[in-house]
Amino acid sequence: MKMTSEETKNRRLRESQLKRAKALASIDTCDPDIDPPAGAVIADRGELAHNNTYGCLPRFYVDKVVVCRQCSTEEVWPATRQKWWYEVAKGNINTDAVLCRACREKEKARKEEARRIHQNGLAKKYDKDET
Ligand SMILES: [Zn+2]
Repeated sequence: MKMTSEETKNRRLRESQLKRAKALASIDTCDPDIDPPAGAVIADRGELAHNNTYGCLPRFYVDKVVVCRQCSTEEVWPATRQKWWYEVAKGNINTDAVLCRACREKEKARKEEARRIHQNGLAKKYDKDET
């Protein structure tokens, strides 16, 4: 199958993002002596106070490589999304995003389908009770 130039471009972009994120993996984001690298997103530690952790809290976020637990695809988890996850969604600092985008979409569709079936079931039951 021939890829369109758009797909090739996206794939190249993805590969370079992965490479960059891998190079950043060795940075200790808690280390007070380290200057945040280019592209880092500064953490608001007040927003991380919900974490009951003995480990340290990050001072900043950098793009990070995560491996999907369903399909083992490597994906970049952007610094901005990490900030959102930990500080806005109040995710636990010890949890990582573990599903890639494709699997998350599938998971979402699966849940919606399950809910739809459940609601149909309830509607049928309700019809029966009425008659
Ligand atoms: Zn996946």
